[in-house]
Amino acid sequence: MKRLSILGSTGSIGKNTLEVISGHTDRFSVAALAARNNIGELESQIKAFRPDVVAVLDESAAEDLRKKGLPVEVLAGEQGIIKAAVLDGVDMVVSAIAGSAGLVPTHAAIQAGKDIALATKETLVMAGDIIMSEASKKGVSIIPVDSEHSAVFQCLDGRDMNEVERLILTASGGAFLRSSISELESVTPDALKHPNWDMGRKITIDSATLMNKGLEVIEACWLFDMPFEKIDVVLHPQSIIHSMVEFIDGSVIAQMSVPDMKGPIAYALSYPGRLGGILPRLNLAGIRELTFEEPDRNKYPALSLTYEALRAGGTMPCVLNAANEVAVQAFLEERIPFTGITAVVSDTMSEHSVLKAGSIEDVLRVSEWARQKAKEIINGK
Ligand code: NDP
Repeated sequence: MKRLSILGSTGSIGKNTLEVISGHTDRFSVAALAARNNIGELESQIKAFRPDVVAVLDESAAEDLRKKGLPVEVLAGEQGIIKAAVLDGVDMVVSAIAGSAGLVPTHAAIQAGKDIALATKETLVMAGDIIMSEASKKGVSIIPVDSEHSAVFQCLDGRDMNEVERLILTASGGAFLRSSISELESVTPDALKHPNWDMGRKITIDSATLMNKGLEVIEACWLFDMPFEKIDVVLHPQSIIHSMVEFIDGSVIAQMSVPDMKGPIAYALSYPGRLGGILPRLNLAGIRELTFEEPDRNKYPALSLTYEALRAGGTMPCVLNAANEVAVQAFLEERIPFTGITAVVSDTMSEHSVLKAGSIEDVLRVSEWARQKAKEIINGK
């Protein structure tokens, strides 16, 4: 029986994880759940999965949950989330808190020797070198949940990395694949619904700007120890091929399935085995066409910004991520246009002098600096 702690259990990845578990209760049990403030959803999850511990970031929401008298220990605040991440008896932590807030608890879980099923890509974008070296020191496995990285992980499946020529990450192109650059100017948050995947709000917007793909390129560099020059992005609107690996002999291996996060989540939980009955069968004759396109770098400046951040190295990817989070929030609040998101990221990056972060505290300081700088830029616009 694998004991799991699910950080971000009330989100899109968290709920999909619990759905996978509910079909395999002979293999997995839930020791801990954690979320920000959605105690309504947590209450149903507690009743269905009977965790020992639940952690709620918001202290007053935690108090309201305690008053319900459910048979569970309710922890509160950031320290509560960390306790849920390092709980004794937990074998694997599912890291699915949206955004940079996932970094500290995931780092704590690694220090406590827990294997990680990693959905929150921001953790590696912000602090990839610290996280990967800590994981290797502690003998912790970091198994990707992101569908592209799960695909690469499945294609590599223990192969010699010297035989790998490049990784090819696929991108659907998001909600505005067929919109012109001028049409993007007037896009509103309501228009954002991903064509193939049902995801949280932040990642849906990141998919439309292609910043999500940029963050995934950075995540792939760390997860697979690949130089960024060997990671390419190709648009693939059908989202059937989740990513590919090209080998030195020119052969390319692709991983395919219907687009449903339960696939990569199940693989991360059950690796190296597989679970039955997770996804519907892939009907290739019904799909008929798999198409590919080069992304237009003028339309999607986020991609160029990502490679620029990778070239600069050090703390620049962390700055890109923090500025993006602030800019996405400002777009959701209709304070900047859709095209302003990458403009804010670019302006924030140009104000940053790259450092080498030696600790998580350094990373958090740089992230906070970038958040403040991005806010100043937005307020000045
Ligand atoms: P959602 O917005 O749907 O869910 C976020 C979860 O994190 C919720 O449980 C939320 O709690 C919790 N949360 C947010 N902030 C905090 C905080 N400060 N402390 C504790 N908990 C917090 O996000 P997704 O599930 O879509 O994404 C989660 C992560 O997984 C992201 O990093 C995303 O990039 C990545 N990912 C997502 C994919 C997807 O298909 N959705 C695919 C691949 C990666 P509450 O509900 O109480 O607010």
